[in-house]
Amino acid sequence: MTCYLRLDDACEKMNIPNWERMEALLDRYHIAPLVGIIPHCEDPDMSDFPVDPAFWDETVPRWVKKGWVLALHGWNHVCTTREGGLNPAQKRSEFAGVPFETQKQKIADGVRVFREHGFEPAVFFAPSHTFDENTLEALKACSDIRIISDTIASKPYTKYGFTFIPLQSGVVRRLPFDTVTFCYHPSVMQEADFARLEAFLEENHSQFKSFEAKPCARRRTLYDDLMRMLYHIKWSRR
Ligand SMILES: [Zn+2]
Repeated sequence: MTCYLRLDDACEKMNIPNWERMEALLDRYHIAPLVGIIPHCEDPDMSDFPVDPAFWDETVPRWVKKGWVLALHGWNHVCTTREGGLNPAQKRSEFAGVPFETQKQKIADGVRVFREHGFEPAVFFAPSHTFDENTLEALKACSDIRIISDTIASKPYTKYGFTFIPLQSGVVRRLPFDTVTFCYHPSVMQEADFARLEAFLEENHSQFKSFEAKPCARRRTLYDDLMRMLYHIKWSRR
């Protein structure tokens, strides 16, 4: 099992002590994660955190220097539909079921914010893991992004002109996949979440690699589909 870490919901409003704790933990094992940045957060669940004026000028450059890979994580992180799209992990979405022109605008605006600060997102992942074929077309039309983090499979594969790097769990554990991405939301992690991650890393850190945004040519196979079915039967619950 090769493991990657993905950190969700970085933005100007976040729980800075928790993010610093996560960063120190990953520094200890020299692991660079994929980090998803919300370019224009309007999610009411995150409104309690104060705006950090140093986010784009200090925090993001420090992460990039450490090899962290930046992902575009939607536009405003507000779900407006009850669609699951191509990866129905949840029945709500900022993207799935949203008109193509609106999706294009969200992607174009998000990429513009990154570029205004001197960054280029290499990867996309949607809030609630949900997107549809129009999201992929919008990415092709309005960005250079051709890598998606999400969907269940045993290892990365290519489809619709994109490389998909699978994301199988929101908590570290042993899984029967070749390549596993675990996703964490540092802003809302509790002491027990950190304790479990710290213990798992202490024992298994040699299996973790820094995230690499590289395209792959492997096509999705029946084995991937079988693993996705089994996953939903056996492992999808934490
Ligand atoms: Zn999110």
